[in-house]
Amino acid sequence: MLTSAILRVTLLLILRGNAKSAARFTKNANSEKSTRGVVSVTRRPFLLTAVLLCAVIGCRDHRQPQQASSATPPSQSDEPTGASFTDAELAQFKALRPIDTHTHIYQSAPQMLAMLDRLNLHILDILVTETPDQKALDTERSDAWAFVAASNGHASLCDTFNPFVYNEPGFARKVSADLNNGFDRGAIAVKIWKNIGEQVKDSKGRYLLPDDPVFEPIYQDIAAHHKTLIAHVADPDSIWEAPNPQSPDYSYYMEHPEWYMYNKPGIPSKATILLARDRLLEKNPKLRVVGAHLGSMERNLDQIGQHLDRYPNFAVDLAARMPYFVMQPRDTMIAFITKYQDRIIYATDDELPANADAAKEVPHLERGYAVDWRYLATTDNIEYRGKQVQGLGLPLPILRKLYHDNAVQWFPGIDAGQQQ
Ligand SMILES: [Zn+2]
Repeated sequence: MLTSAILRVTLLLILRGNAKSAARFTKNANSEKSTRGVVSVTRRPFLLTAVLLCAVIGCRDHRQPQQASSATPPSQSDEPTGASFTDAELAQFKALRPIDTHTHIYQSAPQMLAMLDRLNLHILDILVTETPDQKALDTERSDAWAFVAASNGHASLCDTFNPFVYNEPGFARKVSADLNNGFDRGAIAVKIWKNIGEQVKDSKGRYLLPDDPVFEPIYQDIAAHHKTLIAHVADPDSIWEAPNPQSPDYSYYMEHPEWYMYNKPGIPSKATILLARDRLLEKNPKLRVVGAHLGSMERNLDQIGQHLDRYPNFAVDLAARMPYFVMQPRDTMIAFITKYQDRIIYATDDELPANADAAKEVPHLERGYAVDWRYLATTDNIEYRGKQVQGLGLPLPILRKLYHDNAVQWFPGIDAGQQQ
């Protein structure tokens, strides 16, 4: 036991030497944000301590989740490569009335608002329950609503709920009442997060899964209100595998051992969590479900396709998983996107926490939109976050679906405030 713990720590420390180069490859593939995935020099003592602790105690106690990772400062090495839009590119991009259905914006920074205007961009601002602390969620919610109100029609809100209090009396009824208040205010969707499956446990230490009966009345209520459920459940395959510096997610789990599931005792397998998500889809055929991050099936296009074929109420967003597309042969990606052109929704997972430096961050976000655009829309040879690749050159009707029509189809009302 001790020997294996020492070996594990040693391996992690050796591999950590490659963290920065791995990070350069990725627009952090895991998380609730695109800029979290880098291990900075200043965080190394924390990381070392966390990894050692994890090895010694076996990461057994997850009843108290770690602090929200949104405190992590962004890093240069996660910077999208390439310039921002040229005038010609921007004219094409703006003409689509583009929508990004996966962001986390918790401040009304003038730089952010100006970027949305400049790009003619509409975004869905998503809440996430990162800790059991209800006050943290309340603050996040009021910050997000303030941003939506200030956005001049450029943003809509996706609400969420606190699953950690699932065993309080009247849980589902109270959650639905809160969500209905949000719907009355204009919220168009609700998110469940990976803490369901990887963090929230019952008194016997059993992890709750996304199809736990305790959540079912909430799903039914969302469907009855014709709203959409965003399901970020599970995480990339590599989170359950031995450390691999080649993984786009390597830097994320090196920095966030609390979300690294490899060898964690008692944690459900990824397949177990996704099967629970599938049962949710089956049981609620009238509930529109958008699987965040390619439905956590990022490596397996066949698996994504089979799910889209089997569940007409299911679509996927691209948030923070474009690096996986870029790893596939160009022809394979063109064929896949062409086949499922009505079920894939453009999204980034961009984040601007309340304490972020917007002047520094927003240009980084804008370059991200430009790089994604060159990959999807042009046939240029480009560097996509460290990897040389030729753009897919998708035809305009498909680009229009990815960037606009599918968002409107899967999130009714998302374009209500959008300018023509
Ligand atoms: Zn996210």
